[in-house]
Formats: sequence, C-alpha cells, structure tokens
Amino acid sequence: MYRIPLLLLPFFFLLTNLRAQSTKGPDQLIVNVQMLDGTGVPARNASVRIRGGKIIAVGEIIALNGEKIIDGKGLVLAPGFIDSHSHHLSYLKRHPEALATSNQGITTIVIGQDGSGEPMDTLESFFNTHKVAVNIASYTGHTSLREMTMGENDLLRKASVQEIENMKGILQSEMHKGSLGLSTGLEYEGAFYSSPEEVIELAKVAAAFKGRYISHIRSEDLTLRAAIEEIITIGRITGMPVKLSHIKIANKDDWGSAVQIIARLEKARGDGIDITADVYPYTYWNSTLKVLFPDKQYTNIKSAQLAVDKLFEPDSSMLVRFLPDSSYEGKTIGEISRIRNEKPARTLIALIAMAKRYSEINENAGGVEAIAGKAMSEADVKTFTRWRHSNICSDGNAGRHPRGFGSFTRVLGKYVREEQILSLPEAIYKMTGMTAAHLGFTDRGLIKPGYYADLVLFDPSSVSDKATLQQSDALSSGIEMVWVNGQSVFEKQKATRAYPGMLVRKKS
Ligand SMILES: [Zn+2]
Repeated sequence: MYRIPLLLLPFFFLLTNLRAQSTKGPDQLIVNVQMLDGTGVPARNASVRIRGGKIIAVGEIIALNGEKIIDGKGLVLAPGFIDSHSHHLSYLKRHPEALATSNQGITTIVIGQDGSGEPMDTLESFFNTHKVAVNIASYTGHTSLREMTMGENDLLRKASVQEIENMKGILQSEMHKGSLGLSTGLEYEGAFYSSPEEVIELAKVAAAFKGRYISHIRSEDLTLRAAIEEIITIGRITGMPVKLSHIKIANKDDWGSAVQIIARLEKARGDGIDITADVYPYTYWNSTLKVLFPDKQYTNIKSAQLAVDKLFEPDSSMLVRFLPDSSYEGKTIGEISRIRNEKPARTLIALIAMAKRYSEINENAGGVEAIAGKAMSEADVKTFTRWRHSNICSDGNAGRHPRGFGSFTRVLGKYVREEQILSLPEAIYKMTGMTAAHLGFTDRGLIKPGYYADLVLFDPSSVSDKATLQQSDALSSGIEMVWVNGQSVFEKQKATRAYPGMLVRKKS
C-alpha cells in the first residue's frame, strides 16, 4: 500500500471527486415540458431534476450553477415505457444499443416469457460481460424448468411427482435471485402436456415469494374460454397476481366476443382474483406454424383445413422465417400454396413436415420456421386495449414482425392521436405506472422523486410507428429523447451508445 503525502491530500480528493462526477455526469434539469407522470392524471408544466441515475426533484425548479439544462420545447415528458412481454434479449446480444426498444420509448423489458427464459445467474453474467442500453427483468419459464428436469426431448407428457419437486427447487432458488415469478407457455408443445396440477404446484412456489404468474394460456382459439378458466383458477388458489399474456381471440367464430371475455375477467376480479392482461396493437401474431394445429395433429388434413377456415388468413399471413427453403420467406401462405399448386391446407402440412425434417438433420437449429399469422379482429384488439386492467406490451423480438420496433409508438399514433380510443394520459399510464404496479416495481414507471430516471420525451403530434412486415426495423417518428437510469440512450433518431441498462430484480 502506498501513502499519499499529507500536503497533497486535498488535491487528491478533488481529483477523485472530479472523476466520480464525470462518470455520473452533472445534474440534469429537464425544463419546458408537458409532464405526464405515469399515474394517468392530465399533463402539467414541470421541470425534472436528475442526479446519479435517479429523479430527485419534480415541479417548479430553479436551475443550479453548472447544471445541464435540457429544453423539452413544450413536448411531452413521460416515464420510460415498460414492456411487460418482450423477447428482445437475443437481439440485445447483437445490438446492445437497443434501437428496437428505445426508438419506441421502452426503457425496461421483461423477458422469460411464454415459459422460456434464462436462469438469473446467466442474466447476471450477461450484464457482467455486456453493457446494454435498456433495463431487463425476468420471469422464470415453466418450459425451461421442464427442459432442465425432464430433458429437452421428453416433454410431451406429464411431469412425475419427483420431477415436479425438482422444478420447485429450481424455481425457489430463482425466486431468491430476483425472478419476478413464473411464466408459462401452455399452448406450446413443451408445456401443453403438463397437467393443471403441475402448473399450480409451481405457481404456489412463486406465490410463496410474493411473486407473480404470467401466462401464454393453453389456447388462444378453440378452447380459449377453458384456458381463461385455468388462469383464473391459478389466481384463486395461489392468491397471487396473474396476468394473461398478449390477450387475443384467434378463432374467427369468436371474433367480437372481447366484451364477454372482459366481463368474465371482471367477474373474477370481483371475486378477489388479481387478474390482468397485456396486449399488443396488431391483428397478427408471430409464432410457429404449429400453433395453427390446436390438436397437434400436424399431418391431419382436417386439422389443417380448420386452421385455414377459422384460425388465420393464408393470404395475409407471411412466412417470416423458413430455414428449409429461404425462397419461401417473405411470402404469404396463400402465395406459397399457389407456387406449389396445392390448397393452403396442404401447404401447411408440407411446410411443417419440411421444418421437422430440417430440424432432425440440423439438431441445434432453433427457430426453424415462423409465421406472422393474421388472426384477430381490429375491434377485439381495441376492446382489449381499452380494458381498464390491460397494459401495453410488444411481444417483440426484432424479427420480421413490426411489433419489435413499433408497438408503443403505434398505440400513441394510431390509438391515441388518430382513432382516439385512449386518451394520452391513459395510454401512458398503460405503458408505465399500471405496468409497474402489475410487475411489482416500486421505483420505476412514474416521474417521482426517488424513482429511477427512466424517461421519454416525445412529440404527441407526430409520434408514430413506421415498422411494417416489409420493413420491420424502420424507426418510429416523434420520439425525441430517451433516458435510462439518468443517461440519454436515444437522441435525434440515433442511439447515443451509452449503456446504462441494469438487471432489475424483484424486491424481496
Ligand atoms: Zn406468447
């Protein structure tokens, strides 16, 4: 150890102090904005002071000497958007600057969705080796637990009592490490054959840690109602908050019944069950072709015909990924069926068979195929978006579905400004304060002293999504500036290359 000569001590402290200042930056004062604080109340004039990653003052504030002043030019300042259902992690590994999220005002993503996720330790070491421009929180995935205990190739069955015990042990340890709770993807093969009891046993573990349950439920089409009953039951038995992921009605015969579904959810809430939903603003989903076969009979022509008749529109549904034959990528199922000179139902069966053969030969090829399936009615999407307990999500992953870049700005442009199905304060609440409350975040999602300085400055008269199926990474307009933990990550349509993102853990 070396000693600092006494005479130089004051100088040394000055130097270290300067260094500490420059890593955190000076205080910032954002002035001249219409502030929407995330609680849903109307906008008001206010200034916001940021210090060391946090908001320290809100209101009428006089600038300090040396403070960095940011003129908001009368635009709207809101809490950074929280995406309660995201698949952006793999994109972030390649693109730590996170344009997909920041261009639409998102500052925190919640991953580990649909039953698949990474262990908390893996996420922690990700943050130790990567710097990213967005915060990340995660659920623990049910299917991932099944893979760890039952083996990846042995999931098409119920778990044994011992396997359930093993899964409970892993989940417990994940909850200790800050997982938000349990996520399931019960419609997918890896979890479809699990029993309701298996799911309830695991959900009870998350509940014991005051965690939460989020679910891509067992059906979004033919047996949607039964699947909703299953999540309501889980909420009733465990007493914990439960959230229905990307709520939708994917069976044409049931289009228009969003009002009845909401009535059922409200009834459950009246019975004391804390059930909510998230929703993305598109009428087409993005998933595997296999979800078009609710009975999992991928070679059955009757099942395929039912998919064509009721579950999606072949001429508006694009095959966005297809490793066995990339010439099919970017074409609709209708187009491919005409190229192949067969009915769309036959094409569905053929494509799934080709994908199966491909993955048998190429063992580690994940995500062999994906389709953006047009399957919902706009009226139902709007009804779900307006429900007083639904928040906005993207379900995005920066693939070919435009939701990866445009979900939040689409709501602000289309549903707020153009169609006025939501007021601006309401929409912001559904992207920030409400979402934070549903996730159990107590220091993000509002503009309030003591909260993290996750903020977005935008122009309500021009904010709009630009991403489309044809150009899914087109940047939104109207987002002027985005801060994550007090640092600007997006300005003038560009990433600033600051990487202040943090791993957000559940508070114990
Ligand atoms: Zn899902």
